[in-house]
Amino acid sequence: MLKTHLTVLITTLIGCFSNPAMTNENMQNKEPKKDSSSIALVIHGGAGTILKKNMTDELEQTYRAKLEESLMAGYQILENGGSSTEAVKAAIVIMENSPLFNAGKGSVFTHDGKNELDASIMASHDLSAGAVAGVSHVKNPILLADKVRTESKHVMMAREGAEEFAKEHNVELVDQKYFYTQRRWEQLQKVLKSTPQKSQLSEDEAKNSDVKNSKFGTVGAVALDVNGNITAGTSTGGMTNKRYGRIGDSPVIGAGTYATPLCGVSATGHGEYFIRAAVTHDICALVEYTDSNIQQAADTVIHEKLVKLGGDGGVIGLDKEGNIMMSFNTEGMYRGSIDKDGKVTIKIYKDH
Ligand code: ASP
Repeated sequence: MLKTHLTVLITTLIGCFSNPAMTNENMQNKEPKKDSSSIALVIHGGAGTILKKNMTDELEQTYRAKLEESLMAGYQILENGGSSTEAVKAAIVIMENSPLFNAGKGSVFTHDGKNELDASIMASHDLSAGAVAGVSHVKNPILLADKVRTESKHVMMAREGAEEFAKEHNVELVDQKYFYTQRRWEQLQKVLKSTPQKSQLSEDEAKNSDVKNSKFGTVGAVALDVNGNITAGTSTGGMTNKRYGRIGDSPVIGAGTYATPLCGVSATGHGEYFIRAAVTHDICALVEYTDSNIQQAADTVIHEKLVKLGGDGGVIGLDKEGNIMMSFNTEGMYRGSIDKDGKVTIKIYKDH
């Protein structure tokens, strides 16, 4: 069936604009292979203290444009009848290749001035999942995570072993220098300066100081394809100043990423809490075992369970009908979606 009435609406703080790359005309020319199911895509570029007063109009536009580019890359695949897995990878690669987000190129620095990246991906039709943790030479960790899913018997691979697997499967490796960005380096220096000496802290404070004094980010995408399959994926540089090989929730299936035939979710936030609350699995379990719709399920986990634990962050996701979900308990979350009616939304702050 031809998509004859596609409405493209981009919500922005400083006004609405339509994307010339995705006009009704362009969309009408693409015929999905099958018309039995809606298609939809939702992405995030991290949650946190994102305030309008700390953002220039120019930077805001840059973020919005990159989110839009990511959405378009994924959606085009879905429109052409491609799989949700391919769409998720395409959307995430755009964000991984941008210095704007804490993933791939823009990854934060560890305490030792290195970059250690994590990613995961899960497909609903067979519950297959792949994840990589602590890799430091993989340009696009989401592509390696998917290789783990499709080309190995395992779900998660870490560090040198994961990179050896990358070599064997022709996944692009880069020099550590590729991940250097001035902005992230300065962020680390700032955090290092403001981190009190361990000896001045109580035992509990000392235990948490490395993560408390950190910044986070992360990117993710969830797609529903024309065959009704859902894929969720997440990619991150973790948290600034992390040490001791710390791994967050992003590569942990059920914490940072989860997909079932009913629901797919990708998370961003303070990983330790997301692991403890098994956030993405919990949301999908609520959808499966209770009357909650995906938005209600996510709000319960993000605004009640996670808040009680003390965790901040957010999630994006969608259900088998293509209903989009976004939920976060921070000031903002970079996010965007193209819903089942083709409506495009891009938001950064609480309401816009
Ligand atoms: N969840 C990521 C982590 O804890 C960070 C983030 O989402 O910003 O590693």
